[in-house]
Amino acid sequence: MQQSVIELLQSKQFTQQVALKGWVRTFRANRFIAINDGSTIHNIQCVVDFENTDEEILKRITTGAAVSIKGTLVESLGKGQSVEVQVESIEILGDSNPEEYPIQPKKHSLEFLRENAHLRIRTNTFSAVMRIRAILSFAVHKYFTENGFFNFHAPIITGSDAEGAGEMFKVTTLGANAPKNEDGSIDYKQDFFGKETNLTVSGQLEAETYAMGLSKVYTFGPTFRAENSNTTRHLAEFWMIEPEMAFCDLDGNMDVAEDFIKYVIRYALEHCKDDLAFLNDRFVKEEQNKPAQERSDMSLLEKLNFVVDNNFKRVSYTEAIEILRNCKPNQKKKFQYIINEWGADLQSEHERFLVEKHFKCPVILFDYPANIKAFYMRLNEDKKTVRAMDVLFPGIGEIVGGSQREERLDVLKEKIKALHIDEKELWWYLDLRKFGTAVHSGFGLGFERLVQFTTGMSNIRDVIPYPRTPQNAEF
Ligand code: ATP
Ligand code: MN
Repeated sequence: MQQSVIELLQSKQFTQQVALKGWVRTFRANRFIAINDGSTIHNIQCVVDFENTDEEILKRITTGAAVSIKGTLVESLGKGQSVEVQVESIEILGDSNPEEYPIQPKKHSLEFLRENAHLRIRTNTFSAVMRIRAILSFAVHKYFTENGFFNFHAPIITGSDAEGAGEMFKVTTLGANAPKNEDGSIDYKQDFFGKETNLTVSGQLEAETYAMGLSKVYTFGPTFRAENSNTTRHLAEFWMIEPEMAFCDLDGNMDVAEDFIKYVIRYALEHCKDDLAFLNDRFVKEEQNKPAQERSDMSLLEKLNFVVDNNFKRVSYTEAIEILRNCKPNQKKKFQYIINEWGADLQSEHERFLVEKHFKCPVILFDYPANIKAFYMRLNEDKKTVRAMDVLFPGIGEIVGGSQREERLDVLKEKIKALHIDEKELWWYLDLRKFGTAVHSGFGLGFERLVQFTTGMSNIRDVIPYPRTPQNAEF
């Protein structure tokens, strides 16, 4: 029976006959083949008796080739592995011309690998990152299911344009000859859905409708934002996790966000030990190449354990502004955006200062000024701030954005009016406040930012298989 590399490496049944398939990573001394099949970061060493193997076959054992091997599992005397396979027969399933195959056994730059995103999964770094991504995804479903949440599939094509979370991608079947209204604008009544539609920027509003029937729901799906921000933390297509909870206020919301993040990171620490050990070494080496003041004083594993073991610091926006106003980089005008007064929107440089320099731990900021946050957030008694919260992480900045939702019909209507949003667009959303309204809250966590933090990868494009960013949708 065929076995995976991880099964063979964990096996202690020596002298058993084994069969395995995988790809050649390296072949040295015409004798030692390192085989990887993606089941683990580790390769299995297969030893060929080259004197008794056809030279034509030996020539075809090249990096990247797919092979099928039969042999005996034996204890290894070599350094670095406990078992190896003594090859009895080897078949080349698919050749890989060494003159052409881009992924050679040497260090490739992340930029080069992005251009070869269809092959980069065959490197140690990307296989480790993507295995961790898969385990984290499982942990997300496990956490919510075990805590009484129901997974809710929000629509990907949305007819509501009031979400206000970012620029949208239009969905249309109309072409160059689109029918026009009298004023020259496109007549979307004749479009596929009979109205203007877009790709979703958030499943929140729809998730709220389900929370008001199932109490606790969460979405985990693709999300699209046509934001032209070429940063290391933004994608045009990303995966977002959005829990929504009836009968839950902002404090409860913060408790769930913190508990959830700690749970999934702890799950990765327990279930991705080998991959994290590899990425930890990688992280430490990368940090050594950075200028001293940018260097992280913790290794990747230390950072992950720190997050899991410590309370997140909860700070009001007003307190944060006081800290920022009086801090050195602000006084010395080292920030790109100087904080002068209450009401200023926080940039990533401010968020990172609070987390990395001031509190030196994850921070949850809450009670933001109403006018820099979305219309659906619950207004506080001061009439100036809303029950919003952002979770800020080292190296990443905002990883979660959430709020307690405005459940009072009159207050919500006032806000919609003040923002010149057409009430009719949101008729179904307002219905929730008419029929059995209740305190409810939720948040959105960008899955790739979580994967970025957990793997220590500095660019978000390297934690999703095929990144979509401005000017880039190859593959
Ligand atoms: P940012 O200020 O970083 O652009 P945001 O305020 O637009 O974030 P929200 O609308 O609150 O973010 O979305 C919730 C979460 O989704 C964010 O906390 C972040 O983790 C993630 N997120 C938002 N935009 C993107 C994006 N373009 N690519 C990847 N993740 C994103
Ligand atoms: Mn944004």
